[in-house]
Amino acid sequence: MTTSGARSSRFGGLGQWWGVLAGGLLIAAWINRTAGPAVIIGLSAIVLLWSFFQAPVTCGAPIRGRDDGCRNNATGLLMGCHIRQHRWQKLKMLIVRRRVRAFCSGLFSDAKATLVTLAAAGSFISGLVALVPGVAVH
Ligand SMILES: [Zn+2]
Repeated sequence: MTTSGARSSRFGGLGQWWGVLAGGLLIAAWINRTAGPAVIIGLSAIVLLWSFFQAPVTCGAPIRGRDDGCRNNATGLLMGCHIRQHRWQKLKMLIVRRRVRAFCSGLFSDAKATLVTLAAAGSFISGLVALVPGVAVH
């Protein structure tokens, strides 16, 4: 668990945004329908996992005396930063019902979080549509 923090800081910067690249491929796969549903489902899963567990968003775990919470880099929408108490903070928020609203507002707390949230939503819908062909046909 401790090695992942060192790894992500070494790669840092643009390397952490590979999920956006996968998202671009996903959009290309939708435009060019020859890719087939397997490719779309695969890319959707990759982008979704990236947004949940890899994307470089802000931790945002509540800190006493700070309205904006922890400003450390987190790994993904569902994970906190390297501080152990923060690591599972967001998953806990999803379980405690009165915290879900705080979790949801955190999804759009800044431009990075919004982009990652949209990527997660887009890939989720794309995967769903690819998995269930009936959804796409109204
Ligand atoms: Zn934190």
